[in-house]
Amino acid sequence: MSVLLTLTRIVQAAAEADSPAVQVRKLVDGIQREMDVDACSLYLVDDHQDLVLAASHGLGAAAVGHATIPHKQGLVGLVVAGRHPVNLVEPASHPAFHYVSGSDEEQFRSFCGVPLIRAGAVIGALVVQRREPRPLSAEEEAFLVTLGTQLALVVANWQDWHETDKYAPRVLRGIRGSPGIGIGSVFLCEDLDLFSVVDAPCRDRDGAKAQWRELLSRVQSEVREEQSALGDSLSREVAGIFDAYHMLLSDPALRLGVEQGIDAGHDLPSALRGVIQHFAKLFMAMEDPYLRARHEDIRHLGNRLYGTWREGMTGSGDENLPGGPLVLVGAQVSVSHIAAVPREQLAGIACFQGSTLSHTAVLANALGIPAVMGLGEVRGIGEGDNILVDGNQASVILNPEPAVLAEYRELARSEQQLRGLLQELRDQPAITRDGHRVNLYANSGLIADLSPGLAAGAEGLGLYRTEIPFMISETFPSEEEQYRLYRDVITAYRGKPVHMRILDVGADKPLPYFPVQEPNPVLGWRGIRFCLDNSALLMTQLRAMLRAAQGSQQLRILLPMVSASSELERFHVLLNDALAQLLEEGQTVCRPEVGIMVEVPAAISQLGKWRDEIDFLSIGSNDLSQYLLALDRNNPRVSPSYDHLHPSVLSEIARVVEAGAALKLPVSLCGEMSSDPEAVILLLGLGIRTLSLSAAQLPRIKWLIRAADSGEAARLAAQALQLRETNAIRELTESYLQSLAPPWLSKQHEVKQL
Ligand code: PEP
Ligand code: MG
Repeated sequence: MSVLLTLTRIVQAAAEADSPAVQVRKLVDGIQREMDVDACSLYLVDDHQDLVLAASHGLGAAAVGHATIPHKQGLVGLVVAGRHPVNLVEPASHPAFHYVSGSDEEQFRSFCGVPLIRAGAVIGALVVQRREPRPLSAEEEAFLVTLGTQLALVVANWQDWHETDKYAPRVLRGIRGSPGIGIGSVFLCEDLDLFSVVDAPCRDRDGAKAQWRELLSRVQSEVREEQSALGDSLSREVAGIFDAYHMLLSDPALRLGVEQGIDAGHDLPSALRGVIQHFAKLFMAMEDPYLRARHEDIRHLGNRLYGTWREGMTGSGDENLPGGPLVLVGAQVSVSHIAAVPREQLAGIACFQGSTLSHTAVLANALGIPAVMGLGEVRGIGEGDNILVDGNQASVILNPEPAVLAEYRELARSEQQLRGLLQELRDQPAITRDGHRVNLYANSGLIADLSPGLAAGAEGLGLYRTEIPFMISETFPSEEEQYRLYRDVITAYRGKPVHMRILDVGADKPLPYFPVQEPNPVLGWRGIRFCLDNSALLMTQLRAMLRAAQGSQQLRILLPMVSASSELERFHVLLNDALAQLLEEGQTVCRPEVGIMVEVPAAISQLGKWRDEIDFLSIGSNDLSQYLLALDRNNPRVSPSYDHLHPSVLSEIARVVEAGAALKLPVSLCGEMSSDPEAVILLLGLGIRTLSLSAAQLPRIKWLIRAADSGEAARLAAQALQLRETNAIRELTESYLQSLAPPWLSKQHEVKQL
């Protein structure tokens, strides 16, 4: 018996059910059948820690959904409290036995229960029973334990499965996508899969061909409309995605291929599937990695065409949208979904998958839409449900209570007021009460981000993530395209420093047209390693940057993920080469300052050896925390433990500041820590005087610096370095923060308590 195969079979059957009650019922039916037992029951822990019989095959139907076993009682209570399997015969004569009325349990003479544990907490128990007095064999028990482990990941929690709780409030935690509060009703973004379409014959070939032509032209004009809806706000980067769709849609091979399929007797969806599969396969087999990656676009387009066909050619434009503010909810929320909703109606985005740096989050940030990513597999969300997206706390509340809703509305209103208040600080310097100047730079990755940064009073661009334009392009951008883009960036920040990071792809930032399969991508082909191994790409990028910086002293080049001396040596050979080439071509380029991101812990002890190769240090606290703590920054399962205020992160930052001072290298910090007020106080205390952060957070951090005292911050930092626990460090900084009484804190604090 392969546990995984068995579970996949069972879960797939359950997924087809259209209500949670039927789904759990299918799960227990499947397990009963696969294990050849007489009964299988699923108990789930409720809010009072009692065990509710959520589903059963074999126990009396009257008990299902109603019967509860009080906390720590019965054999099921033993399983849950002891967190270990109980496997025995004659359960009714066991002293712990608790008879559940209506269950008809007396007919069973064997019992085996295993706990269901998720993220360290027991969420329920899975029980199988037989009429014969025969315990499960050791092999069967091990199988049930393994099944239980997997099942715990599938059965999220009792509320997810309990139909009567459908309208109860539910708080879901995710990953930060874009800040702000969004309140609206759920608008589901469905994921269709053309490849799962089953072959069917065509009854009216001429009719199907006419329908196909109409479908093509409808999707073409929809794509055009979406492009113009977004065009102004997102300029060139997003336009590239749409151009590729236009190209594919007008390819005669697609049009004729489907017509031929219909002529051969297939209905429209199966003819379309045949052609799309054929092309996707052709591209998959290509040697050129760029062309190979096109198969994803083709598949995406196929789903798009199929989706429109399924809507019965009624279109999916604004006329189908419900009224009022909407929150887009789905496994993935695409650019097309975002474009389909008028900006004034789009209140937020809640994504089951994705990370802070996925396209959706990047677009949401650029458009100022609150977004939460990586919520995990969420069940039981229905179209039209009330939903609240808290992009500040990375949480989503389904069906919030009226009181909670009112508090959040108040918070959203006061955030709006605060924006006005903070705006007044735009041209004021960030100077502490005791006269220490802090440079506040902006982080950016999109042209659309540049003006908010400047509007917020950024004194430079501290981190320009060049991978973002690469990620939302359809091909590697040419030297000319990059030159124009970088020129725009440098011009926008005229006279101010611009720190351009060379391409930092890999792991959570994949290039759609350069798929890389790695068993452990976070430890794989990333950052400078990727750039040096693809030196032609790096050379193109360096040439574009150097050309764009001509006539200004603004460019600083930032190297991501540096961990070895050889990386710096190889980089400088390439930089020298790029400079020599351009000078030979008659360009007036000059050598820019070069700095490294301190984000791989290995770099810290090596800084002294790199003095002659670098001009500045920029701490990447996101990756530094990830690698120091060995916690994936984008994994919702471990995200509660991922905190950049961990004592070891603080002491490594202190080491970097010390090394920077000894080597006379300026040190800045450009990770998320720069936008976390509690962290900023400690960074100030550790001696950091340059922070780079998102435009949206810049004004409040400026407010904080102007209210703080660097001597007090230093005392606080020294105290924090002595503490053992992240929580204790947070308590320490929180109370200092409260003493400063920032205008945003009280309301946010109240809402946090809800
Ligand atoms: C970081 O790692 O802290 C950082 C700023 O870079 P990124 O988030 O782009 O990896
Ligand atoms: Mg990083």
